Amino acid sequence: MNDQKGREGESVVGRKRIKDKQQQQQQQQQPSPSSTTTTKPNNQHRRCASLPNTQYDEGSETDVEGSDVSGSEEDDTSWISWFCNLRGNEFFCEVDDDFVQDDFNLCGLSSQVPYYDYALDLILDVEPSHGDMFTEEQNELIESAAEMLYGLIHARYILTSKGMAAMLHKYKNYDFGRCPRVHCSGQPCLPVGQSDVPRSNTVKIYCPRCEDIYYPKSKYQDIDGAYFGATFPHLFLMTYGNLKPQKPSQNYVPRVFGFKVHKP
Ligand SMILES: [Zn+2]
Repeated sequence: MNDQKGREGESVVGRKRIKDKQQQQQQQQQPSPSSTTTTKPNNQHRRCASLPNTQYDEGSETDVEGSDVSGSEEDDTSWISWFCNLRGNEFFCEVDDDFVQDDFNLCGLSSQVPYYDYALDLILDVEPSHGDMFTEEQNELIESAAEMLYGLIHARYILTSKGMAAMLHKYKNYDFGRCPRVHCSGQPCLPVGQSDVPRSNTVKIYCPRCEDIYYPKSKYQDIDGAYFGATFPHLFLMTYGNLKPQKPSQNYVPRVFGFKVHKP
């Protein structure tokens, strides 16, 4: 990691470390909704401490969004918009607070996500109550739990009309990338999971033209496919039927010295 990158560089490492730790932890133990911790994290501190990268881009792409997220320790960006503006999280749309606050929408998630209550508070920017102090390590666990909880809420949200509209905006902006297949002529893709079960597959992109799935760019290859789900692109294309492209008219034909390869 580059020293000059300073704080945002460190926090990228931090995020990786959190993910690794979470995976180790989850392999060892089943997550329990009634967490073993007794205190709450300092939400504001965590978010500021790990406020990373949006205004700096080490890569070739430029993220204009989030450039107003200044280095101020007292910024009032919500956790959700902070999270969605992190580099590598461009596939996520911002879930409405109202949707997250409705218990009905979160049904069943408390048994899937560790530190559920703390994670939910973090997502909703609920200030920790007085006297609640967490160790740095506990904060990291809660933060990674919040990412997982947000992902699972997100998978549900993008199947609603509001969520789909948010994803439509991103689709039109080519946020999910384009099909790498030559004869798909740069067809924009949609994110998809191969399963709705967390930690079974990473996210893929689905091309509506050739109707196949591909690996996304490397910076998206750690994202859990369950945060988008197996249904999303197909329901999306049923909803916005006019966006469904024609099947590709050309197929690649292998040739040797100009002759088609004989198929036995
Ligand atoms: Zn394609």
